[in-house]
Amino acid sequence: MPIADNVNAIRARIARAATRVGRNADSITLMAVSKTMEPERIKEAYAAGLRVFGENRVQEFESKSGVLSGLKDAEWHLIGHLQSNKAKKAAELFHAIDSVDSPRLAEKLNQAAAEAGKKLDVLIEIKVGQEESKAGILLDSPDLENLLRAAPQLESLQVCGLMTVPPFTENPEGARPYFRLLRDLRDQIAARKLPAIQMDVLSMGMSHDFEVAIEEGSTCVRVGTAIFGIRPQGARPEPA
Ligand SMILES: *Cc1c(COP(=O)(O)O)cnc(C)c1O
Repeated sequence: MPIADNVNAIRARIARAATRVGRNADSITLMAVSKTMEPERIKEAYAAGLRVFGENRVQEFESKSGVLSGLKDAEWHLIGHLQSNKAKKAAELFHAIDSVDSPRLAEKLNQAAAEAGKKLDVLIEIKVGQEESKAGILLDSPDLENLLRAAPQLESLQVCGLMTVPPFTENPEGARPYFRLLRDLRDQIAARKLPAIQMDVLSMGMSHDFEVAIEEGSTCVRVGTAIFGIRPQGARPEPA
């Protein structure tokens, strides 16, 4: 199917899921996860009206970014795990880092953003399951509290909310408790009205479970396969 048809179908599903729970579909961003996709495919998605894109590896995006620089108003988010030694490059290339998973990385990004003379939007990635393979701050880790408290000193970062990738379950309903958990955490943090912390964004939901995520309050669904089709074999799904 042409990308535009996929996008239309997904937008209709987003609207229906939002309506089911009395939400406005305009409050939900459809992020196109364009990792492993050739620039031509990404341009097609842009032509279909998409403006927010997620990439998971710094080097891959660096090699594509030149060709894509003509896409006006496109917003590039890093959604894959970022190693501190690539923070500088990431801060230069991306508008937002949605996968901040340690206070140390936040500090590095803050420094890099300051040097680049920009303010970077960031999300704190939370690990809601127990899988070894997934990135994110564990719920009971002191890192979360330390990062929240450090925010006022991180003047070149704006913490905008939370992101998660739940453990995979065949049935999308299996993800619901994890989405609920992330929303509850977001609500708890928001209620504290901490200095320099915004909690408007809840980035959760992918191709197979975005409707459940929307029912549980997601404000940004990260969709790859359902827009672009199956990724090339051998593509690495996670590390940046
Ligand atoms: C690849 C990826 C997605 C998109 O996954 P699909 O199942 O293809 O929609 C979303 N979020 C993250 C962090 C990813 O790495």
